[in-house]
Amino acid sequence: MNTTSACRSCGQAPLQTVLSLGYTPLANALRDDNSPSRPEPTFPLELAVCDHCSLVQLTTEVPPEVLFREYVYFSSYSETMLQHAAQLAQALIREQRLGQTSLVVEAASNDGYLLKNYRAAGVPVLGIEPARNIAQVAIDQHAIPTRNEFFSRDLATQLVREGLRADVFHAHNVLAHVPDLNSFVAGIHTLLQPTGVAVIEVPYVKDMLDQCEFDTIYHEHLCYFSLTALQECFRRHRLMIHDVLRVPIHGGSLRLYASPAESAPAVSPRVEALLAEEAHWGVATLAPYQAFAQKVQTIQHDLRQFLQQLKAAGKRIAAYGASAKGSTLLNTSGIGADVLDFVVDRSPVKQGKYTPGTRLKIYAPEKLLETQPDYTLLLTWNFAEEILQQQAEYRRRGGKFILPVPQVRVA
Ligand SMILES: [Zn+2]
Repeated sequence: MNTTSACRSCGQAPLQTVLSLGYTPLANALRDDNSPSRPEPTFPLELAVCDHCSLVQLTTEVPPEVLFREYVYFSSYSETMLQHAAQLAQALIREQRLGQTSLVVEAASNDGYLLKNYRAAGVPVLGIEPARNIAQVAIDQHAIPTRNEFFSRDLATQLVREGLRADVFHAHNVLAHVPDLNSFVAGIHTLLQPTGVAVIEVPYVKDMLDQCEFDTIYHEHLCYFSLTALQECFRRHRLMIHDVLRVPIHGGSLRLYASPAESAPAVSPRVEALLAEEAHWGVATLAPYQAFAQKVQTIQHDLRQFLQQLKAAGKRIAAYGASAKGSTLLNTSGIGADVLDFVVDRSPVKQGKYTPGTRLKIYAPEKLLETQPDYTLLLTWNFAEEILQQQAEYRRRGGKFILPVPQVRVA
């Protein structure tokens, strides 16, 4: 474990700590057993802001080899993600006029959920996925050529040496996880064709603040990006962010379009508009982050109290989504087996295991109908619409969902 005192983007020190969530276990480290004799390691979870480039980041870094080698998040288990991926690939094939001689590369390509859309259209692809088990699924099930590695400047240089250059480079929901941010971003410039485009999605720090999504804070998420912080980092590596969109995925994300500065297209007015908006709400000041920290404490208190009252009234309560978010929410709010009976999750690789720290057993979602708990705490609120629809029968029979953020409410 490393504790960083300097900014992982610009290198300036010291960082200003704005929120401390205590020590928590690794949010994706599901357990095979619930034996109390084998306690799991915990690490400090603390959010800080850089005075110089305004990047919001964690102060502690758990080695990526510990975090990502057996990752349990399979993108293909979410319908929302699959639709989002298919639409994006179709748009880029059209806009970039991709064909049989093009190449699309994705960093953290997961099980090939995105690249398979290009492959189906006859566009060559290359996946880069550090988790061994997931890279193997991409190769075996989706026939996606996949390298079992972390993307970096060195890997990009190696690929270029092999004669590979990307017309489109994707990095979705991965930049926030990267310990060496500068190496990753430099690698994008190295790998892109002069006319190529990088499409990058990151959870947006403003959405985290507005919706009080403190459960998106866990050790894998090292950075919490604003456009202001991203632009400084990308400029350092001669990449021009020429367009930006806010997309409603993972609780609110930014989608950036970036190209080598030497040959980038004209910059969309959306870029300047969002930078101005960020300056207006004080992206580079401490006030919005301190206000967020206050709201976090309120939600943690309200949720714990509400669940304890239900429990005291004899209600049975389950949770939906053995997600990393859920792990932060439960472990930092002091909610566990004293109020929750079990967790359900659609992913078969999680079923039968136990949640980190709280040691709740994970079942398939059918368990909700089998046992009909009175309430279900929705830990994967980012897929609320989809899950509430799938659970229409549970709700018709009187089951209720509790949504934790941006304030505690029953649906
Ligand atoms: Zn900085």
